[in-house]
Amino acid sequence: MPGESMQQCARMPESLETLISQADLQDRIESLAEEIRRDYGDQQMLLVGVLKGSYLFLADLSRRLGGNVAIDFVQTSSYGAEKSSSGVVQIRKDLDINIEGQNVLLVEDIVDTGLTLTHLRELLSVRKPNSLKVVSLLSKPEARVHQTQIEYVGFEIPNAFVVGYGLDYSERYRNLPYIAILRPE
Ligand code: 5GP
Repeated sequence: MPGESMQQCARMPESLETLISQADLQDRIESLAEEIRRDYGDQQMLLVGVLKGSYLFLADLSRRLGGNVAIDFVQTSSYGAEKSSSGVVQIRKDLDINIEGQNVLLVEDIVDTGLTLTHLRELLSVRKPNSLKVVSLLSKPEARVHQTQIEYVGFEIPNAFVVGYGLDYSERYRNLPYIAILRPE
């Protein structure tokens, strides 16, 4: 878990407590897609998924949004004690597409301190998109250090470490179809 070394945690038995069920996730994604489609109308949008955590959310959201959608991915440096202490976010994989003039919708798994999103917003806005908005499946308002705008939020959750539906712990649990709180036993 954040702040602890991976080796320490790997030896710890863990327990999962369901926070958001598969059905609730899918219902909310359906209504998010309807809201986004209403706002954008027929305009083409470019969904930019933030790897790796957003891969399932992007897959489900994009299918519900229907036509006129292009997709690209960006990857930042992974979550860890190093990042929170240094306050630096690095780009590990940049976009393949030129976003100038495009309606970019950044697709995030979770906004925690807001550091990653603040950095990504700056990075993308200097490339002169026609519009730049953010959809995040999860948000932890209590953990926010860097205030940043999120136009569409799936669920506000408490300040706990969660896994599932794309979110990992040491690359595990991404394939859970629901969101769970991970606790050391
Ligand atoms: P932020 O920069 O907002 O502090 O953190 C954003 C990133 O940290 C997310 O994209 C995600 O990779 C990771 N993260 C933050 N909170 C959690 C969490 O509860 N569970 C998991 N698995 N990752 C998290």
